[in-house]
Amino acid sequence: MRPYESIRNFSIIAHIDHGKSTLADRILLETGAISEREFKEQLLDDMDIERERGITIKSSAVTVAYTKEGTEYSMNLIDTPGHVDFSAEVVKSLRACEGCILLVDAAQGVEAQTVANMYHAMELDLKIIPVINKIDLPTARIGEVEEEITNMLGCEKEEILQVSAKSGQGVCEVLDAIIDRIPPPSVEDIGYARGFVFDSFYDEYRGVILFVRMFNGKLARGKGYLVKGQREFDVVETGKFRPVMKAEGSLSGGDVGYAVTNIKSLQDIEMGDTLAAGKTDSMLPLEGFTELKPMVFCTLLPSDYQDFEPLRQSLERLSLNDSSFTYEPESLGNLGQGFRCGFLGLLHLDIIQERLEREYSISLVKTAPSVDYRLVLTNDTTQKISRPSDMPDRTKYMDILEPFVKLSVICPSEHIGLVMEFTLGKQGGYLSTEYLTPQRVLLMFEIPLSEIIFDYYNKLKNCTRGYGTMDYEVLEYRPNDLVKLDILVNGSIVDPFAVIVNRKKAARIGRKILLALQKNIPRHLFKVPLQAAVGGKIIAREDIQPLRKNVTAKCYGGDITRKRKLLEKQKEGKKKMKSIGQVEVPQEAFLSILEATTGDI
Ligand code: GDP
Ligand code: MG
Repeated sequence: MRPYESIRNFSIIAHIDHGKSTLADRILLETGAISEREFKEQLLDDMDIERERGITIKSSAVTVAYTKEGTEYSMNLIDTPGHVDFSAEVVKSLRACEGCILLVDAAQGVEAQTVANMYHAMELDLKIIPVINKIDLPTARIGEVEEEITNMLGCEKEEILQVSAKSGQGVCEVLDAIIDRIPPPSVEDIGYARGFVFDSFYDEYRGVILFVRMFNGKLARGKGYLVKGQREFDVVETGKFRPVMKAEGSLSGGDVGYAVTNIKSLQDIEMGDTLAAGKTDSMLPLEGFTELKPMVFCTLLPSDYQDFEPLRQSLERLSLNDSSFTYEPESLGNLGQGFRCGFLGLLHLDIIQERLEREYSISLVKTAPSVDYRLVLTNDTTQKISRPSDMPDRTKYMDILEPFVKLSVICPSEHIGLVMEFTLGKQGGYLSTEYLTPQRVLLMFEIPLSEIIFDYYNKLKNCTRGYGTMDYEVLEYRPNDLVKLDILVNGSIVDPFAVIVNRKKAARIGRKILLALQKNIPRHLFKVPLQAAVGGKIIAREDIQPLRKNVTAKCYGGDITRKRKLLEKQKEGKKKMKSIGQVEVPQEAFLSILEATTGDI
């Protein structure tokens, strides 16, 4: 047997919460890579963000040893890197593997990400091992879930394994199946060494560490070269994750491990690049390079202007280990200073926002997220617009394009009608219906990304009593009839309130925004007019009536401490207000814009 014939490279794919991390930990425990205590600690630790941080490196690519019938195998479990449960990220891990475990929750059954991930694995021609998890649950419906899997995957019932990642039942059978069913890597001698970079990490003391799956040749200490990035550097150390980093003299074709480099920043290092042992002429990059680009943008403002500098530092620190998110300072006039940030998707935005608030204790105001648009200008060039307020006059461009996605929804068949109705109402184009079982159906649509980044997910949950799940994949930019909707408060345009909307919906959305603002901006001593405008033309108006009463009057004069308390409270509230001219705008107003734009069917 050649050395690489005892290697198995695999990944676990699943819908979120179906037990991927638990099964990964269980595999580490079963193969002796972690102790019972470490396993328990991870299960018990529910602070998922912290937990994620703790295990990012470890679970990204772990090498474990497993003996079957007297032969020792080296198994590389390659996890989706980092924290983002996006298809594009999953694909990167899958490219480093020959096979995968498709994990399905016995109570939930097949969900949208299960299907999306399965298709990715199929496209890459990977061997798929279907596994039903959580068979210990009293709500497990194993028979039905088997039927869903056989219909979806086109496999035999006998191929499906059953486990409880929690109790460990069935895990050895999974390990055996990995060895029996997933082929070993095939390694060809092409005259030079190359591998695929599927993740990276910045270590303050050691520099950039690349996670690499070697395909050909041998990588060792010495010269390194990134083919796409055209960058030469030194490889200082190579090794494997067991699960902690352990130096090994070299990595050969088929191996998965790490290379410590002398590179000092993750910037310009792109995932999916080809790593070679030094620069050689006529070197070919491995195919399948997918660049991850931010697709969703919004402005983050510190609630308290004093937090601007801490916010900048926190963003900088977060970006050290997440090259897929972008940020740049943005001045919003009276509203203060913030950052225009770009994210892979909404989940990514949520995670970053949560980390800023939780780990760095910065309270934030967030503008309505938007996608980036492309303008075709009159001189036939294109221009990117990632901020609604940057959109020029209608006379300056011929066409405006926005990203469209392929949306897949899985829901109980009884809810098809409702899901169809509200998706088509959001400019969704219907593609197909596929029954997984008579009870569950997979619907496919083409729809502008902007229509689903707001609250499509919540709506879907509402009209399917929580059972619907979704996933999407970006297709391309297509022309659409869009306009910039400006919002004026007390006569002046408020840039961060601007949204880009479909022309037909502009008046309706404008009115909804004004009503929401009217509800959320407190009364002032003067009348505050609110207006919505398209291209300088006012299309809606609402007023906030002036205030007359003295607020402290309701404390019937007597109790001085109560009065003081009320004033304190007002002061506290003031801190959280942003002022637009003479008008104080609370944070809720920003949120209400978001809700108003989204509540639209
Ligand atoms: P992931 O999002 O796919 O990584 O899912 P996790 O591994 O974080 O698991 C999600 C939840 O399911 C956690 O609360 C786990 O404790 C639980 N879980 C995972 N595997 C099992 C299992 O076999 N049985 C039961 N009852 N719960 C499980
Ligand atoms: Mg997990």
